Amino acid sequence: MASPDEKWPTASFEEKYTLMMGSMSDEEQRRAAANVIHLCQCSKCPTNTETGEINAVYCTFGKSEAIHEEKGCLCSVCAITKTMSLRWEYYCTQGSAKELSDL
Ligand code: SF4
Repeated sequence: MASPDEKWPTASFEEKYTLMMGSMSDEEQRRAAANVIHLCQCSKCPTNTETGEINAVYCTFGKSEAIHEEKGCLCSVCAITKTMSLRWEYYCTQGSAKELSDL
C-alpha cells in the first residue's frame, strides 16, 4: 500500500486537503495560508487590479467582498494550484476550493 508521501503527487484536492488541513483549526489554516502568500498570483491578476487586496489567497479564504467582475484568472499558473491539485478558478468570485470541492 502506498504511503501518503508516495500518493501525494497524484492525490486529488480532497485527499490532500484531508491529509494536510483536515485536523487544523481555522486559525491554523489561516497561518498555513499566510505561509504561501508569496506564491499567490492574485495580487498580479487583471481581476484584482483595484481592490487593494494584495494578500489574497482566495482559494483558501474564499470570495472577495470587493471583486464583482471577472476579467481573467491567473490561478491556473499558480504554484498552489499544482501543489494542492486545485481544479477550479475564480476563487475570488466563486468561493474557496473547499467550498467548490466534494468535501
Ligand atoms: S482567484 Fe483567480 S481571478 Fe481571482 S484574483 Fe486570484 S487569480 Fe485572479
